[in-house]
Amino acid sequence: MADTILVVNAGSSSIKFQLFAAGSENDLTATIIGQLDGIGTHARLRGKDGGGEVLIDHAFAAGEMADIPSALRQLRLWLAERLTGPPMAVGHRVVHGGPIYSRPTVVTDAVLETLDRLVPLAPLHQPNNLTPIRAIRVEYPDLPQVACFDTAFHRGQSPVAERFAIPEALFEEGVRRYGFHGLSYEYIARSLRDIDPELAAGKVVVGHLGSGASMCAIQDGRSVESTMGFTALDGLPMGTRPGQLDPGVVLYLAANKNMSDQAIEHLLYHECGLKGLSGISNDMRDLEKSDASGAKLAIDYFVHRVAREFAALATGMAGVDGLVFTAGIGENSSLIRARVCERLAWLGVELDASANAEGCGRISTARSRIAVYVMPTNEELMIARHTLDLLRRQ
Ligand code: ADP
Repeated sequence: MADTILVVNAGSSSIKFQLFAAGSENDLTATIIGQLDGIGTHARLRGKDGGGEVLIDHAFAAGEMADIPSALRQLRLWLAERLTGPPMAVGHRVVHGGPIYSRPTVVTDAVLETLDRLVPLAPLHQPNNLTPIRAIRVEYPDLPQVACFDTAFHRGQSPVAERFAIPEALFEEGVRRYGFHGLSYEYIARSLRDIDPELAAGKVVVGHLGSGASMCAIQDGRSVESTMGFTALDGLPMGTRPGQLDPGVVLYLAANKNMSDQAIEHLLYHECGLKGLSGISNDMRDLEKSDASGAKLAIDYFVHRVAREFAALATGMAGVDGLVFTAGIGENSSLIRARVCERLAWLGVELDASANAEGCGRISTARSRIAVYVMPTNEELMIARHTLDLLRRQ
């Protein structure tokens, strides 16, 4: 299969995958779009073709798929039935590229070793990102694999955006603000050029609001500043992560509550955010349906922080022309978009209620001082583009 690219996006309990056919003009068409989720609990494999026709929807028995390696074996078996041979390359989402990688990179043993050293900076994501790369290298050692980093889009920010106010030696060692969701931001920045070129050349804040959530200030297509920092814990509240937190809280947990590193890590990655605040769920859909006071508090907190970060990022750029909502909550929740825009009315945001209810394209009125858009993100397509670019340039 000389003209296909497989994209693998392995998360903490899911693997998203897409197969793309690559045309001679570097155009890419998705021919298989799938997801294996619930790995470790109730695993389910779903796949459809490029036209949306369901190819598979199979629920595995509880415990049948315990971890990412066993999920990969199942996936390989299923894909082997549909492909006539290996793809020309595999593109992977890798959450952390550290200070070294500012662009997609062909994976070698040395690259893998460097990426392994970044595991402590993204303990939940990085190991799962690297497992499929290793498994494929064992089976197809000559198949090119490209690592595309969530941090890469943010490289090249100014020193004040990149640093914490800590001693220089720690910065040199790599303790700095990296920013994440870069593949999503890059996709949005490029797509905006087609939809609204004038806005794309200006100052835009993009909110990637999913179960992981961050915002990014983008000026003329380049990342200026992001709400996420050294790890994917900082910034906005998320499904189960707190977002911005006084580091004194961590010291207090360690010193006064005798919590181990692992217990604190578990708390910060799995028990906080919407889940911790509401005591009900990490899923915005559940909170929107609930009348419980915890659900209301979690939504109020989320909206408050999104609006605050928007204003902070706008100040960082000394102005703002647009706001783009994307990812699970950003693309699907008209309520959250309306609540955030209401809070930003004083800055000149004016929402068009019926466009917001439809939830696609421009959702602000023609006279709104700040243009507001809803745009679906597509990290897999961005990875496929990078992989093809790199391969065809070699
Ligand atoms: P990730 O890729 O980080 O797992 P997604 O971008 O897929 O996350 O976003 C998942 C989240 O989006 C869900 O947990 C849920 O909170 C939210 N979401 C999805 N659909 C809706 C909806 N219709 N209304 C409100 N929230 C939604």
